[in-house]
Amino acid sequence: MATYTPMIQQYLSVKAQAQDAFLFFRLGDFYEMFFDDALLASKELEITLTGREGGAADKIPMCGVPYHSADNYIHRLIEKGYKVAICEQVEDPASAKGVVRREIVRVVTPGTVMEGKTLGERANNYILCVTERNGLMALATCDLSTGELYVTSAPASKEWLRDEVGLYDPSEVIGDEALLDWIAEQAAPLGKTVVYTPWVKTREEDSRAQFGEAQWIRLESERRDCIALLVGYLGETQKRSLGQLTKISSYEPEQYMILDPFTRRNLELVETVRERSKKGTLLWLLDRTETSMGARLLRRWIDKPLLQRSRIEERLEAVEALHGGFILREDLRQALLEIYDLERLTGRIAYGSANGRDLIALKSSLRQVPAIKELCAASSSSTLRGIAEGMDACTDIADMIESAIADEPPVSVRDGNVIKSGFHSRLDELREAGSNGKRWIAELEASERQATGIKSLKIGYNKVFGYYIEVTKSNLSALPEGRYERKQTLANAERFVTPELKEKETLILEAEEQMADLEYRLFNELRERIASDIERLQRLAERIAEIDVLRSLAAVASEGGFVKPVLTDGYDLVVEQGRHPVVESVMKDTAFISNGTKLQKNEAGILLITGPNMAGKSTYMRQVALISILAQIGSFVPAAKAEIPLVDRIFTRIGAADDLIGGQSTFMVEMADIQVMTEKATARSLIIIDELGRGTSTSEGMAIAQAVIEYVHDHIGCKALVSTHFHELAHLESSLSGLRNYRMAVQESGDKVHFLRKLVPGAADTSYGIYCARLAGLPGGIIERAYGLLQGFEQAAAAVTAGVHGEAEAAPTASANDLELSDKQVAGKFGAKAGEMNKATAGGDTSGFT
Ligand code: ADP
Repeated sequence: MATYTPMIQQYLSVKAQAQDAFLFFRLGDFYEMFFDDALLASKELEITLTGREGGAADKIPMCGVPYHSADNYIHRLIEKGYKVAICEQVEDPASAKGVVRREIVRVVTPGTVMEGKTLGERANNYILCVTERNGLMALATCDLSTGELYVTSAPASKEWLRDEVGLYDPSEVIGDEALLDWIAEQAAPLGKTVVYTPWVKTREEDSRAQFGEAQWIRLESERRDCIALLVGYLGETQKRSLGQLTKISSYEPEQYMILDPFTRRNLELVETVRERSKKGTLLWLLDRTETSMGARLLRRWIDKPLLQRSRIEERLEAVEALHGGFILREDLRQALLEIYDLERLTGRIAYGSANGRDLIALKSSLRQVPAIKELCAASSSSTLRGIAEGMDACTDIADMIESAIADEPPVSVRDGNVIKSGFHSRLDELREAGSNGKRWIAELEASERQATGIKSLKIGYNKVFGYYIEVTKSNLSALPEGRYERKQTLANAERFVTPELKEKETLILEAEEQMADLEYRLFNELRERIASDIERLQRLAERIAEIDVLRSLAAVASEGGFVKPVLTDGYDLVVEQGRHPVVESVMKDTAFISNGTKLQKNEAGILLITGPNMAGKSTYMRQVALISILAQIGSFVPAAKAEIPLVDRIFTRIGAADDLIGGQSTFMVEMADIQVMTEKATARSLIIIDELGRGTSTSEGMAIAQAVIEYVHDHIGCKALVSTHFHELAHLESSLSGLRNYRMAVQESGDKVHFLRKLVPGAADTSYGIYCARLAGLPGGIIERAYGLLQGFEQAAAAVTAGVHGEAEAAPTASANDLELSDKQVAGKFGAKAGEMNKATAGGDTSGFT
């Protein structure tokens, strides 16, 4: 190291503090990177790699990005899952002895981004911290840009951790190394780059001071430890006070309906299974919010459906009032339209990065609040009135901004013109002096022209030479001797100064510098003053977001013809004319066919649904789950009538997610899911299994399917919808009192099959595969032979099933049939592809529930 120049030595010692990040090392107007950072960054950012003499034999690899466009490059590195440490000059080069002192002022990481494109406006950006101590796991997560902080804990369980991590979709996870490894392997959000940093440095005292003693002592110790660890990391990377973190939202996992990541994905709550997009999801359907905070809150509601009836009913009551009150809804919408992202604005104010335009955006947003408050206060909904009652419109803050900040301030807060005139007398004086000075210059120009007779004489200004008098070469002879001091020679002009111009210049420039400094100071004072009121603004933002979400739910309900569900603490789920809201909303030419649902204790807790592929089974089952979720977030539901019992958890096992889980066989995944289900489901849960038992041999699959259904029926007793292609399982209806057979009706006419999309009682006949083969034109001989074989298999299979059912202990011994039976599976697959042509079910009973 000794051979390096002092500057490179300084670089290396700073770099040692940021091993896991790119070091953006400030040199003049550039951020430079050296050594390996330069090699990698030049590739990742596609920028030119150069070299720099640094005292060693070889040149040091170097690349750099201009200071003014650094944000863009930082954003690109963050998106790729890197961290960027920003190293600035921290002393004035003019007064520095030797190399200017430089320090890391902030480490930007994917989970701590405060601005720019990396932050999706309508989504939160979470950093998550996980710990395990004494058999308890804790999870603290925060969105630094909005100031939200959530914490929870539970007895150590990896499934629990997976479910919680899944809720937040974090971009960065820190904490105990062993847990991080597991999350990276098992629970990482799909398709997203997540940065993992094992972390042990905690800041207990800082956290206590940050959140205040009262909040702190109420927390369980494992939650405190987890937050202190998170705060430790934030402190270490952000290197400044994080005033936006004021409130700890501590919750118990059982306060909310539990939805594991597979279920959330299967039901396409916030992301579609295939494109992983928002379009086509429940969130997409429900999101008519006008503000970004509303959009984020809506997503949090979908992530965490409630389990407390009173809280759900509060939301429903407001949605009902807004549903009925079109004018109220529209008036609110108009006002909300004008509201900027209060959460992120206040976040930036507390963080110290807000500029004049941010304050103006805050002011104009706050000006909308009285109208919103009034509308809610006058509404028929006690929920809305309650929200209005406690609403602090922060008018004083809006007034403060209005009196201080120019109506159209520049982006920079350092170059002046941010503060209004009339706000500060000294600033006004300086401005007056500045404009007097400029007037004096204009007058000087006029008098010099007159004195010299040179019409083209002009007075100009540049940063290097200051003010000058410019005379073209052809006019130089007209200039009197003595008074004019030559400053600069151009191609066809000379520039001069006079003693009086120099004197005035000093005064003008001093005034301008003082003015900029004073403006900056005044701006900072105001920003800090507002930051001290951060909690008021945050509470206000919460209320605005809530109103926005309630209004959005009402708008969707109104357009989609939803009804208010009746919530019960009982068991029975009764829906009349239910619809799948998302499928319905994207259907263009045809109408969605509604279906009722009746899941009743001891009578029909389990529906066993059969029917050909494409008949609508999985749409129907998802529909029931979505209606439950909608009801529990406080939304109306797509039905004519709905009585919804509180569901504590929804399990789904639906084929569509299979392709997402590389490496593991469908069957293993299914079994693992079912294992978790048997362990965690309660009588208040809802289970949805699509095509139970596929992925292994027919007889085994059928045996397992039957055993699982019996277990759910006898030991869990929860509501369940199970679809299967084993029509042989229909016999369970006679042995399990709480199970009912249903099928998706289809109608045959000639060679065509028409899907009626109606759920009707009874089981389907399933020889669709061979029927399909016939439609595809296979020779009659083959078809006949296939039907004949099938009959044989079915008899064999029925015998096996009866055996399993009769003696539950006996293992199925059908392996001899496996090979032959798999032929039937091939036919089944064929059927799946050509599902549209499937044969009709026997009988035309279309009398469903509705
Ligand atoms: P299955 O699970 O039986 O194979 P799906 O539930 O996937 O069938 O449904 C197949 C397609 O049928 C869906 O993509 C949808 O377009 C349409 N569909 C399903 N249910 C209905 C319904 N109730 N009304 C109208 N169309 C429906």
